[in-house]
Amino acid sequence: MSAFESLLIHGGIDGDAATGAVNVPIYQTSTYRQKGLGDNTGWEYSRTGNPTRAALESLIADLESGKVGFAFASGLAAITAVLGLFKSGDKLLLSSNVYGGTYRLLDQVFSRFGLHYELVDTTDLEKLSNAITPDIAALLLESPANPLLTVTDLAASAQIAKRHGVLTIVDNTFMTPYLQRPLELGADIVVHSATKYLGGHSDLIAGLAVVRDSKLAERLAFLQNSTGGVLAPFDSFLLIRGIKTLAVRLDRHTANAEKIAQHLASHEEVSRIYYPGLESDPGYVINKRQAKNGGAMLSFELKENHDVDKFFRSLRVVALAESLGGVESLACHPATMTHASIPKDVREKIGISDRLIRLSVGIESVDDLIADLDSAIDKSRI
Ligand SMILES: *Cc1c(COP(=O)(O)O)cnc(C)c1O
Repeated sequence: MSAFESLLIHGGIDGDAATGAVNVPIYQTSTYRQKGLGDNTGWEYSRTGNPTRAALESLIADLESGKVGFAFASGLAAITAVLGLFKSGDKLLLSSNVYGGTYRLLDQVFSRFGLHYELVDTTDLEKLSNAITPDIAALLLESPANPLLTVTDLAASAQIAKRHGVLTIVDNTFMTPYLQRPLELGADIVVHSATKYLGGHSDLIAGLAVVRDSKLAERLAFLQNSTGGVLAPFDSFLLIRGIKTLAVRLDRHTANAEKIAQHLASHEEVSRIYYPGLESDPGYVINKRQAKNGGAMLSFELKENHDVDKFFRSLRVVALAESLGGVESLACHPATMTHASIPKDVREKIGISDRLIRLSVGIESVDDLIADLDSAIDKSRI
């Protein structure tokens, strides 16, 4: 069994050997009875290991072409554990439009412990290469990155990193292993906010990390147990359940996104569109090389004669909300929501204008979605 679609259903630990149940049971337990001193079943305490979580962890390892997976209580808990690999004086190179929460974690928490960071435009390999000074310990990349869906060449970046003895960490939240597998492209660590597409139903918060190297796996297992931000058994079950439909969901998500992107690209009231699945997008060629398609996130800008608040208030199917990757379509306003902490002049410089709208395209009828967007664009005219 090697096809990805089959791995989604049968990968990792499939069902329950003891009873034949086709689903992994929810082992809602904190501890395990031991027969005698040092004589146990292999399970001792659920922070260290839980069979439901273990099933999820081996599933994500299979899906990402990795060796060992780790499940955490959130994407940021996963990233926190990964940052525990580094030491005071180390420095991380981040994609300049890294997820805001990751930026905050480094800027306001880890920097107090001497772990530093530098932002670099990783879409430019020369800038990336020049930024790797001796104190750089790792690259932390996202592709496509939020909210302008900029594409970084993951294979080339990982190659540069390897030449300098630097680790490559890829946050694969926007693509999922169905569309893009960074470990196959040379990355060392993949992290996920499984809250998004992997869960897929906007009903849980979870994070994952996957590695290939057994030494890295050992260190991460130690960090997962030591920092303790593990995913609960019930949420592990929910996430396994969500992952089973990843391929069928994403096929619809991306088909809808492609149609909406084409529609908006030729819309008279739309001044710009950002979607790596459009041939006109600057990231199209590289994205096509490293990913199955352009995914289902896109951003666009309304022309100046539009009131964006009125646009959001006029939406009936699409919901104004933070987050992404669920079956329902969501719209957000990066300038006042996800990127509000960035000063306005800096925001404008990096292309996040007040008229920018980000869409997480859901799996509803694409005709309903297009009609909803058109109607809201129409009503938002000043
Ligand atoms: C949401 C998100 C995170 C953080 O994940 P949580 O599950 O909210 O902690 C990290 N990276 C990206 C790209 C995200 O979209």
